[in-house]
Amino acid sequence: MENIIDTVAKILEKYPLCDRCLGRLFAHLGKGLGNNERGKALKIATILDLHRRVLSGDSKSLDILRKVVLNSKLNFKDFFKELGMDYPQAFPSCYICGDQLDNIIITFSETVAKLVKEKNVRSFLIGVIIADDVLERESNIVKEYHIPYWESIKREIKREIGKRVQSLTNIKVDFENPHVTYIIDLINNTVKEEIRSLFLYGKYRKLGRLISQNVWIRKSGERRYHLSVEDVVKHSLSYVKASDVVLHIGGREDVDVRVLSGRPLVIEYKSPQNSNINIESLNKVLNSFTPWIQFEMEMKVRREFVSRLKGPGSLTYKIYRALIYSQQEVEPEKLHMLEEFFNNRMIVQRTPTRILRRKPDRLRNKVVYQVKTLYISPHVFAAIIKCDGGLYVKELITGDGGRTTPSFSSYLNTELQCLMLDVIYVHEYI
Ligand SMILES: [Zn+2]
Repeated sequence: MENIIDTVAKILEKYPLCDRCLGRLFAHLGKGLGNNERGKALKIATILDLHRRVLSGDSKSLDILRKVVLNSKLNFKDFFKELGMDYPQAFPSCYICGDQLDNIIITFSETVAKLVKEKNVRSFLIGVIIADDVLERESNIVKEYHIPYWESIKREIKREIGKRVQSLTNIKVDFENPHVTYIIDLINNTVKEEIRSLFLYGKYRKLGRLISQNVWIRKSGERRYHLSVEDVVKHSLSYVKASDVVLHIGGREDVDVRVLSGRPLVIEYKSPQNSNINIESLNKVLNSFTPWIQFEMEMKVRREFVSRLKGPGSLTYKIYRALIYSQQEVEPEKLHMLEEFFNNRMIVQRTPTRILRRKPDRLRNKVVYQVKTLYISPHVFAAIIKCDGGLYVKELITGDGGRTTPSFSSYLNTELQCLMLDVIYVHEYI
């Protein structure tokens, strides 16, 4: 970029700009100045330099100086006279912000400060929605004059309002984890509050079958199952006074599988208005909905906890109990051999046929650590299976037409059917 004074002279010869909008184009030059101070200083320095040129006989500069003085919007009344110009009734308005910027900063700071005080906000952050044409006008100037030192108008508004609200309320801006984010919408002239979500960690137990994790609606609009874990959590929205809820569950079980010792989950309450949540009371609310799904929420956690809960390796193993029907008779001795065969056995599984419509066909290797069987009758036995989280247990039993190998079915060389399945333990390693 050439000399700054020359660039400013060219910009102001063409575009009227307020102090802030000019200063912001050079925001990265000179620390500790406000853009308004920076802009005013640049205007004065440029006008003085142009005046110097005029006085030293450069007649071309006079025309430029006249335009720059007008577009600078400074009230140098006497100087207008000296340049042979009439002092204007009104200055042209700022090309970028239409002279709205100062007003925006002052008014919205006051509005937000009032909200911060009213609601006992602990920390806050400012967000801004601004019309595209404003941003476009700004970036046009940046491109036209190849300016590398600029800052966007959005950033200036956020920072200036943040600073003012902080000094009006004594409440701090928090960039990482604000209690409330105020979204200032300059298109509709509104302020929207977004309260930080509340994250609670705990477990749920599913004591009945045909219960889904989320509400499951058929294409026809009817519910597929009468009850879901989500239904119960939604029931607690009024206690938390939250706008919505998201379930982050460690793993998934089929609807016909019970979860007896509890599966870990994080409940995310969006925009919670009740700042005084007692976990014991919340558990009472959750557990009053139905005896079939019970919760034991334990503690508040941070948002990052969710990715740990759902990330790979977070659940090390699970224990299942299955009741199995065998098409051919099975000897008790053969079941003992099955226990030995599946001791620390690697299982190779393709995505089960029953969920291929929903999930991509993928190969996975999972380990069965231990199996204990109970002979009930020639055609029926039970099995306790300890295995990696993410192993498809029904397919481990049936073989899924050869897509899971080895399987109980391939080992016993008979068709097997899983009559009932329960998750009896989920080991958490978080
Ligand atoms: Zn402006």
